[in-house]
Amino acid sequence: MLAKSSTEIVRQQNSGLVLAQLRRHGPLSHTELSDRTGLSSATVSAITAELERHQVIERQEQAPPAGRGRPRVSFTQRRECGYLIAVRISSDQLEYSLVDYGGTLIDRLEETRRGQDEARSFASALRNTIERLCERSSLSLGEIRVVSISSKGLVDPLQPVLLWSPVFGDVSVDFSAIRGGGLEPDILLSNETRLVAGALARIVERQADERGTLPPRALCALSLGHGIGLGIAHLDPSGEYQVAAPDFGHMLHLANGGLCRCGSIGCIEATAGFYGILRTAFEVPSDTIPARFVPIIEMEKLAANARRGDRQAQFAFRQAGLALGQGLGRMQSLNEKMPVYFTGPGVRFYDLMERGLMEGLGQSRAIRREGMPELHIILDETALVFAGHLDLALGHMDRTAISASQE
Ligand SMILES: [Zn+2]
Repeated sequence: MLAKSSTEIVRQQNSGLVLAQLRRHGPLSHTELSDRTGLSSATVSAITAELERHQVIERQEQAPPAGRGRPRVSFTQRRECGYLIAVRISSDQLEYSLVDYGGTLIDRLEETRRGQDEARSFASALRNTIERLCERSSLSLGEIRVVSISSKGLVDPLQPVLLWSPVFGDVSVDFSAIRGGGLEPDILLSNETRLVAGALARIVERQADERGTLPPRALCALSLGHGIGLGIAHLDPSGEYQVAAPDFGHMLHLANGGLCRCGSIGCIEATAGFYGILRTAFEVPSDTIPARFVPIIEMEKLAANARRGDRQAQFAFRQAGLALGQGLGRMQSLNEKMPVYFTGPGVRFYDLMERGLMEGLGQSRAIRREGMPELHIILDETALVFAGHLDLALGHMDRTAISASQE
């Protein structure tokens, strides 16, 4: 491959700025694009003309407000330029969403997961559902440009391979097997809490933009449920958030602690995940093999007992809070003070964990010195996961469209 000249690189970057602004604030007029990107009027014209010619963006005309004068012309991503499918894998179900390039949800399918031995045939089952989604919307497989998949667990940073997950355990799943027979999408595989942190970063960025203030330098999302997931977003020097999902739930909490689903002893999850809380509440030996899945109704019953005054149930939730608080304290020592957004099904038991959480946070010297981080509770995690998928996949489609239009 020939190296790109510096002019080409600048042109790509500028086109990227235009598409990113349309993505975040669109539709936008020529003048608004120039204001928001800081690019000259001539540069914006050249870029929009090129993207229009390649059918990446299109014009919209709106009648002037008073019904007289020239119509307002604005640009927006052309919806039919390509499609993406977002797949959310969770402990009990699979959710598929078909979305166009403009970010509009076209169709959604939910499937109940079939059981534990599905890992080997998982990619082909996923492909079948993608075919069904395409059929329902009369799309050809070739129009699917991106398949964005999320799961809890560990993903390979370089290829679409799920290395370890609560759903499939140590059996890895290679999603590139869905390709072939006309289906050749780019496959993006993400840890689910990483998507949540990415979506939150986008929200706080927009709020700061509206208020005219600076966005926070960092933030994190802590997802509470059967397992514990963490996503961190950091502002890089160019002002973009970089998001990562360190293996927080499997950091050591207690030497000689409970057996974790990952096979280690004493992970944060083994105390603070749903199965860990149940184990403490019922005084089950801590080396008992963790349940693969705990129905939320079991946790609701335990929480009701705790709220009625059952000491052992209260203790179990408090120990969970303590493990989370100490873990967050360590994280603040290694990073910097940042707001924490609690999400996931476990937030409904936040009141029962709060005392332990505060106690754990208060044990950290970094927190005693810098003060408590802001703590927020977000109830709708599903919406954030979906927003994270869109942000990632549509951004990827924008970059691919720019490369294709400048070849
Ligand atoms: Zn573990």
